[in-house]
Amino acid sequence: MPDPAEELARIFGFSDFRPGQAEIVEAVMRGRNTLAIMPTGGGKSLCFQLPALCREGLTVVISPLIALMRDQVRALRAVGVEAGALNSGNTEEENAEVFAALDEGRLKLLYLAPERLANFGTQSLLHRAGCSLIAVDEAHCVSQWGHDFRPDYLRIGELREMLDVPLAAFTATADAETREEIVNRLFGGVQPETFLRGFDRPNIHLAFGAKDQPRKQILNFVAARKGLSGIVYCGTRARTETLSQALREAGHPAICYHGGMEAGARRHAETRFQQEDGLIVVATVAFGMGIDKPDIRWVAHSDLPKSIEGYYQEIGRAGRDGAPAETLTLYGADDIRLRRSQIDEGLAPPERKEADHGRLNALLGLAEAIGCRRQRLLGYFGEESQPCGNCDLCDRPADVFDATDAVRKGLSACLRTGESYGAGHLIDILRGVETEKVRGRGHQNLPTFGVGKDLSKAMWEAVFRQMMGRDLIRPDAERHGAFRMTLAAHPILRGEETIFLRRDTLKSSERPAAKAL
Ligand code: ADP
Ligand code: ZN
Repeated sequence: MPDPAEELARIFGFSDFRPGQAEIVEAVMRGRNTLAIMPTGGGKSLCFQLPALCREGLTVVISPLIALMRDQVRALRAVGVEAGALNSGNTEEENAEVFAALDEGRLKLLYLAPERLANFGTQSLLHRAGCSLIAVDEAHCVSQWGHDFRPDYLRIGELREMLDVPLAAFTATADAETREEIVNRLFGGVQPETFLRGFDRPNIHLAFGAKDQPRKQILNFVAARKGLSGIVYCGTRARTETLSQALREAGHPAICYHGGMEAGARRHAETRFQQEDGLIVVATVAFGMGIDKPDIRWVAHSDLPKSIEGYYQEIGRAGRDGAPAETLTLYGADDIRLRRSQIDEGLAPPERKEADHGRLNALLGLAEAIGCRRQRLLGYFGEESQPCGNCDLCDRPADVFDATDAVRKGLSACLRTGESYGAGHLIDILRGVETEKVRGRGHQNLPTFGVGKDLSKAMWEAVFRQMMGRDLIRPDAERHGAFRMTLAAHPILRGEETIFLRRDTLKSSERPAAKAL
């Protein structure tokens, strides 16, 4: 069977599973009966789509929502997957097309409205088409007491028995009683493998810091946690080597790990990390897959992670034993520029690039957040929560200021110079610094020249970084990172929106280590 993690990247373009997905996908792939309770937006669909594509035969997906079915079929076809739907919204032609594809055994996923199960012939059709898995979306619709009850859902159990194939049921809302009904009606009373886990890891302290002197920031963070096991994730192989050496020179037991090392050396590093107390591994994201060390006390990122999914997976390696664990993620303007250009210069089709920019925006939004980070993080995974009391912003609220005026000045400097420059030159203009470059282009005569004298250079850097983080301006990789204004900036420029930015994000790395229990 194909490797699900590879297919995840190849077909869907996602570099990581979201919390909970990997376990569910694995169980479904192995053909277990499964019941997964996941919040809306948590990424349920992938948990049956991916196994459907990796397994032999046809997967039938029962879903009560025609609009959602159409969306999913369209999205799957867009990435080259043979998918179809049978529901009352279909035209005759669409139906004929689906039947033909079924006959030829071409379909991998068939979305089916529950009413169809009442049709004489549907069950034998599925049997003939080689159905090997049933996925049930919105499984709580089988509950007679819920307000979403769909009588046709009661036929699903019968279908499962007739086809004698595994069934995977998904829902976002299921109290204990509803779960019991699902087990009785869909699984004939035999308890399926059940996944019901909030995504939260409340013992992990979350903190981000703007990159200032990254090496020093990491050294300080580690020094405050001397003797404790931890992982530092770096964006490049070279950095794992220089940083692990710096840590050793500062008296910490540290080794490096990256995909460019020989297999033997990598295995040796893994074993040492598992067995030795207080060892630090400085690694690329290649590190961590097989690691099951319960007492990793901290995880630091010296560079911005690839995605929120990656971030959560990486910090999630800390504190598996449930005792307090800490994290620090550094990010800077260079990280943002690098990620934007990696997306822009990649080979993905335009829609996927736009989606990748969107996902990056979500990560940057978390980095530059003003309120509780965990609330925002869990919200991204679809889980609602209250301020957590265990993140840097709950510890100490962000120091924010009304930056509308500064942002408008920044945007106007950008526009008046033809969107042709990056932060350095624009800041010189705003602060009225007559550099050679400024004079050479006559920029000392611009109306924006010197209008930003009231803010320091460092403040302006923070403003531009946050403008990038909010996706108000995007560095253009093809023009040496010159900023282009995005549509999101228009309301601010027109004075229709105010914007608050953080005054600083620098001091969060100075937090003293939590006392180990
Ligand atoms: P629901 O659980 O509500 O059915 P969806 O399956 O529609 O949620 O997924 C919600 C969003 O999350 C979708 O936009 C989907 O593309 C995205 N998503 C799902 N899995 C991943 C992943 N592993 N990495 C990144 N995005 C993902
Ligand atoms: Zn919090």
